Amino acid sequence: MIKYKLICKDCNIKFDSWFASSNEYEKLKKRKFLTCHSCNSLKVEKTLMTPQVINTKLKSEIKIDSAKYGKIKKTIKHYQKFIKNNFQYVGDNFVHEARSIHYNDKKKSKGIYGSASNQEIKELKEEGIDTQVIPWIEDKDN
Ligand SMILES: [Zn+2]
Repeated sequence: MIKYKLICKDCNIKFDSWFASSNEYEKLKKRKFLTCHSCNSLKVEKTLMTPQVINTKLKSEIKIDSAKYGKIKKTIKHYQKFIKNNFQYVGDNFVHEARSIHYNDKKKSKGIYGSASNQEIKELKEEGIDTQVIPWIEDKDN
C-alpha cells in the first residue's frame, strides 16, 4: 500500500488517498477514476514528495551500509586473528615460500601467509598451488 497526498487543481483541496501501488494510481488516473472528494473534478494530481521524506530514506540507507561494512570488517578481523595465530608470516616471500612447499615437499608445521600480486596468485593457481585470498585490513584502520 502506498499513500499519496493528492491535490485538486479546481478547488485546491488536498487529501490523502491509499493505493495498492504507484501503478494503480496511474491506472486509476488514466481511466478517470480519480476524482476530487469535494468537487468531483478530474483534475486531481499527486503532490510532490516532501524533501524530508527523501532525506530520511537516504540516511537510513547509509546507516544500513555502514552496519553491513562493520559486520564484514568484524568477520575479516576474525579471520586475520586466526591466520596470525596459526600461520607463519612470510610477507613478500609468499610466492617463493608457497612454491618451495609445493615443489620441494617442504614440511612446515604451520601454513604461511603473506602478500602477492593478482598476477602471482594467478600463476600459483595455474601451477596447481592452492591459495586463498582474503581482504586484509590494517590495524591502523581501527
Ligand atoms: Zn476539487
